[in-house]
Amino acid sequence: MAAKRDYYEVLGVDKGASADEIKKAYRKLAVKYHPDRNPGDKEAEEKFKEATEAYEILSDDQKRPLYDQYGFAGVDGNSGFGGGGFGNSHAFHDFSDLFGGMGGGFSDIFEGIFGGGRSSSRRASPNAPQQGQSLRYDLDISFKDAVYGTKADIKFSHNEKCSLCGGSGAAAGGSRKNCPTCGGAGQIRRQAGFFAVQQTCPDCRGEGSVIDKPCSKCRGTGVEEKSKRVTLTIPAGVDDGKRIAIHGEGDAGKNGGPSGDLIIVLHVDSHPNFVRNGQDLYCAIPVTMAQAALGDTIVITTLDGKKIDFKLPAGTQNGKMLRIKNEGVPIINGNRKGDLYLKIVVQVPVKMSSRQKELLEEYLKLDGATKSPQPLPLSALNG
Ligand SMILES: [Zn+2]
Ligand SMILES: [Zn+2]
Repeated sequence: MAAKRDYYEVLGVDKGASADEIKKAYRKLAVKYHPDRNPGDKEAEEKFKEATEAYEILSDDQKRPLYDQYGFAGVDGNSGFGGGGFGNSHAFHDFSDLFGGMGGGFSDIFEGIFGGGRSSSRRASPNAPQQGQSLRYDLDISFKDAVYGTKADIKFSHNEKCSLCGGSGAAAGGSRKNCPTCGGAGQIRRQAGFFAVQQTCPDCRGEGSVIDKPCSKCRGTGVEEKSKRVTLTIPAGVDDGKRIAIHGEGDAGKNGGPSGDLIIVLHVDSHPNFVRNGQDLYCAIPVTMAQAALGDTIVITTLDGKKIDFKLPAGTQNGKMLRIKNEGVPIINGNRKGDLYLKIVVQVPVKMSSRQKELLEEYLKLDGATKSPQPLPLSALNG
């Protein structure tokens, strides 16, 4: 056996790394080297085991200090899987545990890649038809496209039925038979210290059956990875976080089960000038003091560039919220729309010509301004 690499080196973190950094580093490696992602690749398998072993130790509050102090000697035989007990990469980790609660997105992707948590690998009948995994795809779209709808090209890869064996996983003349290691149960019992623990059978990986002559193309998995392109129609009115499912574009099912779905999760960019609240849009409209006082017909440019004549009423106060009906966000697949709200911002002139000044001074004399204004509640300042 070759000399073992230092656990910190394996995960690419330094000795002072936090638990979170260790978890992140492992997660990265696990995604890259997981056997399900690299079928038949011995090097990847070794790397996966190496990383998993390092993570087992460094994520353990008791084992990590022992390792730090005594090196491998501090943790060997102590871990319950020492001496080459790493036969099966699925056995000792509950991935949903490791990746759960790490901020929604990732665990979803992870499940997509690895085929769910433990529940799917411990089903009662390994030969029953099984639906394929649904996959998640995160798509950024512009604010405007979310409001008015668009089409997006989606490029992704999913597992399809192997084209050589048609999904059976067996080569010509080969067949699936009961797994001799676990007797078809998919689980074996293993002694770990004082405890007997149930773990996924390493030979059939919980399938309960093995193939005597595996298909050369898919190495018995029955699936092959294919990249695909679809054009997705995004309806007008979608909002951030909206999910659109493309039926049957997830991973292929097993034993004749249906394929999973491709779930597109939309992320809507913000807009420099408009904000959205449900179906309504909001923006600020600057007007001059004279326009606000006398009223005016102004031209409002909507989000999509449309020009709308808008009658600003005489005597509009600063901060007044005015509405243009039906110029907001459409209700998805409906024929109603929200409204566009204009917050009127009255601009007080800073630079004036001498003529403008003259007129305003004259106005000041006429309007009877008081030199001792009364305090008012803050709310009075918003039109
Ligand atoms: Zn095949
Ligand atoms: Zn087995």
